[in-house]
Amino acid sequence: MPHWWEKETIRFECQKGCIQCCTRPGWVYFDKEDVQNAAAFLGLPPSTFKTRYRLRPFGPGNWEMQVEEQQPCPFLSEQGCSIHPVKPKQCRTFPFWGENLRTRRDWNKTGEHCPGIGEGPAWSSRLIRDNIESAGP
Ligand code: SF4
Ligand code: SF4
Repeated sequence: MPHWWEKETIRFECQKGCIQCCTRPGWVYFDKEDVQNAAAFLGLPPSTFKTRYRLRPFGPGNWEMQVEEQQPCPFLSEQGCSIHPVKPKQCRTFPFWGENLRTRRDWNKTGEHCPGIGEGPAWSSRLIRDNIESAGP
């Protein structure tokens, strides 16, 4: 049975400078490749990177970093994401996460804090599926 987003037009375009998705409380997930890329980008050994940014194990080969209320992601700078070229897959694929696309209602709710939803070009079902699959846990 097709997903609802395969039958409806889904528009999204990130509104530059918005940064709401980097300031809301939640979790940022890193898989092994995300850790290696971000650590190398910052010139740190992966173990130091994990300790410095308080990454906790989350299942085999995955780590999570908590973003708390009133305390944005530590990688957020005045210019935006300071690890943008290597930011974790979870960040690169937002807002196309399975949980946000479960129902049209979930998608609309995500749009309450992501002003890019409903803007810009229509996204193909294939691209949406690719994003959901690479978003991680
Ligand atoms: S909340 Fe949405 S529009 Fe704002 S920066 Fe994040 S992805 Fe872009
Ligand atoms: S890693 Fe970058 S994109 Fe991801 S939440 Fe932090 S600042 Fe935002």
